[in-house]
Amino acid sequence: MQLSGATASQLLEAMDSGEMTAADIVRAHLDAIASLDESVGTFLSVDAEAALTQAAEVDRKRAAGEPLGPLAGLPVAVKDNICTRGRATTCASRMLENFVPPYDAHIVERLNSADAVIIGKTNLDEFAMGSSTENSALKVTRNPWNVDCTPGGSSGGSAAAVAAALAPLAIGSDTGGSIRQPASFCGVVGMKPTYGRVSRYGLVAFASSLDQIGPFANDVAGAALLLERLAGHDARDSTSVDCPVPAYSQSVDQPLEGLRVGVVQEYLGEGTDDDVRSAIETAIAVYRSQGAEIVDISLPHTKYAVATYYLIACSEASSNLARYDGIHYGHRAEQFESLVDLYAASREEGFGDEVKRRIMLGVYALSEGYSDQYYVKALKVRRLIRNDFDAAFQNVDVIVGPTFPTPAFRIGELVDDPLQMYLSDICTIGANLAGIPGISIPCGISASGLPIGLQLLAGPFEEEKLLRAARMFERETDWHTRRPSLSQ
Ligand code: GLN
Repeated sequence: MQLSGATASQLLEAMDSGEMTAADIVRAHLDAIASLDESVGTFLSVDAEAALTQAAEVDRKRAAGEPLGPLAGLPVAVKDNICTRGRATTCASRMLENFVPPYDAHIVERLNSADAVIIGKTNLDEFAMGSSTENSALKVTRNPWNVDCTPGGSSGGSAAAVAAALAPLAIGSDTGGSIRQPASFCGVVGMKPTYGRVSRYGLVAFASSLDQIGPFANDVAGAALLLERLAGHDARDSTSVDCPVPAYSQSVDQPLEGLRVGVVQEYLGEGTDDDVRSAIETAIAVYRSQGAEIVDISLPHTKYAVATYYLIACSEASSNLARYDGIHYGHRAEQFESLVDLYAASREEGFGDEVKRRIMLGVYALSEGYSDQYYVKALKVRRLIRNDFDAAFQNVDVIVGPTFPTPAFRIGELVDDPLQMYLSDICTIGANLAGIPGISIPCGISASGLPIGLQLLAGPFEEEKLLRAARMFERETDWHTRRPSLSQ
């Protein structure tokens, strides 16, 4: 079996049949990291020894006939804003550069009890704020398809790790598209579950009413398998919903009968790249050829989504990040004259420009005399956006469209134009504002050789339907089997 780029199911099968041990698999991925990650820059930390010890434990359990978890021996890369006990969790920020959490996030506990092997922690935009991973204070991550391009963001390290075959599975967080957009840039599968589906206990908060943790994989079945393990109630996150988790990995191969697919005109507007538009049109035709009914729909409040998202996300961020003052949490300045000066100097040194920009926007939007005009109004528009989706899902099962208006952009291309970067989030942020699940799957390659992502959205807690609909497309096409030449 060709190990590089193998899917989670192929790896599990190889271990079940005795063709490979967990140690073989983990060692091969560690070797790939050692030889390739210098040019891609996906990992902020790799603990080879811990990974090999975990793999050896899986092999021991298997040999002893002890029960094994559903992810036994599979390497998983985890975004570095998710707490890992005894292992640095930096959020790619100077502020938390030396933070070693004393506890594991809920999803890390879940991975460990499933016998997965956490192979390393991946790079991100500082505190998950951005769409290119360029806002990392610690490292540059490159797109494995073209190292002059960004991998997207903010979970760029996790997406690039899967694309470069450094891990078959990875974890990201998605506040406004940070799993789906890098998945589309890197040609892999990335999914944001329903708000409340996966506990955020141990996720360093960016915008608490929007943040959600989800899986990356190199095929839809891998995403289903991983989500099944991540999902479920956890009393330590008060937004975690206590409802049963379907066996996503069992049903993912069953096509949906009488599928009604909505196409949102607002997601294919001005600024959509021609290659992206034609890949999406071809994808819609794939659904039509399988008997799906294609329905044109409108989400009329989409034009307010970017403004609404950035007001809410920045307001919540300014509140969440108030704790990093050098006393309670985070980097502490060495030179200061007074307590207030210590706070100011610690925050000045610890935060990067994008984080500061968002704190300033958020503090302004929440300030007395302005909060009604900005924050409170944004909450009202958020409700209208949610109502648009509720109405749409009365008529259709899933909504399809581009994940992002363009393929990956070049490193440095948009760093001086944050507004353009924000505007491009138009297709992904609706799902966060409405709390609904979304997935991005590979659906084409641009003329310049870069992957294009198809986004599918479904109603709240319809992950099972979403995965099955995504798998229907994957089954008919081979985009998900394409790999960048770097990984060969
Ligand atoms: N690009 C969006 C932002 O910068 C999304 C970030 C995210 O989902 N974490 O806020």
